[in-house]
Amino acid sequence: MNRRINYNYPMVKLCMGSLAISPIARGVTQEHALSVVRAAYDGGAGIIDTAEYYRNYALLMPALAALPNMRVITKTYAYDETTAEASFGKARRELGRDYIDYFLLHEQESIHTLRGHAGAARFFRRKAGSRQIGRFGISTHRIEGVRAAVKYASEYGIGAVMAPLNMLGVGLSDGTLSEMIDALREAKAAGLDVFLMKALAGGHLISRRDEAFRFILEQDYADYCAIGMASAAEARYACAVFNNTAPSEGDAQTSLRADRRLMIEEGCIGCGACAERCGQRAIVMDFGKARAIADKCVQCGYCAAVCPELVIKIM
Ligand code: SF4
Ligand code: SF4
Repeated sequence: MNRRINYNYPMVKLCMGSLAISPIARGVTQEHALSVVRAAYDGGAGIIDTAEYYRNYALLMPALAALPNMRVITKTYAYDETTAEASFGKARRELGRDYIDYFLLHEQESIHTLRGHAGAARFFRRKAGSRQIGRFGISTHRIEGVRAAVKYASEYGIGAVMAPLNMLGVGLSDGTLSEMIDALREAKAAGLDVFLMKALAGGHLISRRDEAFRFILEQDYADYCAIGMASAAEARYACAVFNNTAPSEGDAQTSLRADRRLMIEEGCIGCGACAERCGQRAIVMDFGKARAIADKCVQCGYCAAVCPELVIKIM
């Protein structure tokens, strides 16, 4: 049994991030997905975060069938009623779930983005609170996006917001860490469920992960934090920390070695779509080929989703 350690923090619940269980990572099978999701669920992470662009619904389906009480949050780039209905149908069909706990509009960076997705918002708003969807919400990387979610929550039916937060403020493009915390506090006060992400800043904080996790556990307004898990050891490690118990030495060592990097494999045709898509300016074009700048990359995977040759991997 794990030794208890006493952080005495309010409980921010752990959400399993699943980007590393997707085609973006190399060689992931349904069996591997099941082992990681099971380890996360058994350790107390009762919700899994996915997205249509992760292209991992089919990989996760057997795990979700085996663990019917594992809740699901997913995200879509749908912009009108037709694309929203298609995304909703795809998620239910490919995840094997009639009910999706949270459906978010992906990357809603301001009220202007939200207005451009008003049709999709209408669709999800109608479904929210029914037997098909729990809450509708948005994910955003910007403080402006969180503030828009709060200000227009009743107009758009927004009940949840997901935003990046880590102790260094990595990945925030329009303000400071304390401004993001203030905006998220306002979201909680307005009745929205608050999800945090990027606690390890896309791997940059892996060597300081205990400090980084404790920072997250101090965010008493947050409901959940999505932590990416690529292996059962990583899942057990994160669960132990969020359960206020000491992780096993083996899991601590194994997960510490999980220093993932964005890789661009052979086959890049130099189209530049990835560099254009990256908001962190973490990809440059060198002599007609894409090159990743590790220091800037937060491993969001957006570039991989637009690569026509599927040569961008997180490994
Ligand atoms: S390089 Fe790709 S994974 Fe890294 S921050 Fe840019 S879009 Fe995200
Ligand atoms: S999107 Fe893919 S093919 Fe295009 S430049 Fe980037 S890595 Fe190369």
